[in-house]
Amino acid sequence: MERREFIKYLGILPLTPAAMKLNELNKIVEHYSTTDPMPVLFIGHGNPMNAIEENEFTKGWAETAKSLPRPNAILCVSAHWETDGTFVTAMDKPPTIHDFGGFPQSLFDVQYPAPGSPSLAKDVKDGITDVPIGLNTDWGLDHGAWVVASRLYPKADIPIIQLSLNYGKSAQWHYDLAKELAFLRRKGVLIIGSGNMVHNLGVLNWKDDKPFDWAVDANETMKKLITTHDYQSLINYKTLGSAVQMAIPTPEHYLPLIYTLALQGDKENITLFNDKTVMGSIAMTCLKIS
Ligand code: ZN
Repeated sequence: MERREFIKYLGILPLTPAAMKLNELNKIVEHYSTTDPMPVLFIGHGNPMNAIEENEFTKGWAETAKSLPRPNAILCVSAHWETDGTFVTAMDKPPTIHDFGGFPQSLFDVQYPAPGSPSLAKDVKDGITDVPIGLNTDWGLDHGAWVVASRLYPKADIPIIQLSLNYGKSAQWHYDLAKELAFLRRKGVLIIGSGNMVHNLGVLNWKDDKPFDWAVDANETMKKLITTHDYQSLINYKTLGSAVQMAIPTPEHYLPLIYTLALQGDKENITLFNDKTVMGSIAMTCLKIS
């Protein structure tokens, strides 16, 4: 049901008090409305400076946001929140976490004051049955979440929560968990995986952005497996050869891609964008499922 139709529907209910304030009505609509499945994004977030620099990547993110229906809320699976167990942030006002060092003060000065959504966090906890989900009140928005969200929705007016990455679990385990998040798409929740498909900070090219051969190979291999829907091979990435092993020295920047792919519906398409490598070993490749 469209939002406008739902408001009309509410209008004919006898229990709707005429004096109900619009913001209360909006809360009800946001909590219960059913939407077409919201698209899903994987964003290669790269350098935290993307929060304050204008470049081809931030332009690609902003243009993609404009192509989406306005979300009721955002759930972000960020590479930068790994936990023992699985948690969702459940605070009203998630703080902006500057979880990096060596950057200009102007980046530390950035705040992204989007509200949280304790009710959505509870929906996630209640809606996922195979894995216990804890409600977290001491994290917030790490840079994998806020750098991206601030370029997609700079007004910070869409509630946002994070789902943590349970470290030590296999890619298959994460893929299976991600499938359980699908119900959120019909509540108008934009699910964003935020990481980088190719991400090796140990061998950065400090001279220029020319990608290493293995980085090109890994990016091309992954893109081919994505476009041919061979997700099982991407889940079993440890068998994909040496270039992919160089691209994924640790899994936290790769797993958000697995979450995104798990959410693809039968008839949905994948659009790749920002397909470029920076500093030799970081692929900024993004995708949209819709
Ligand atoms: Zn990162």
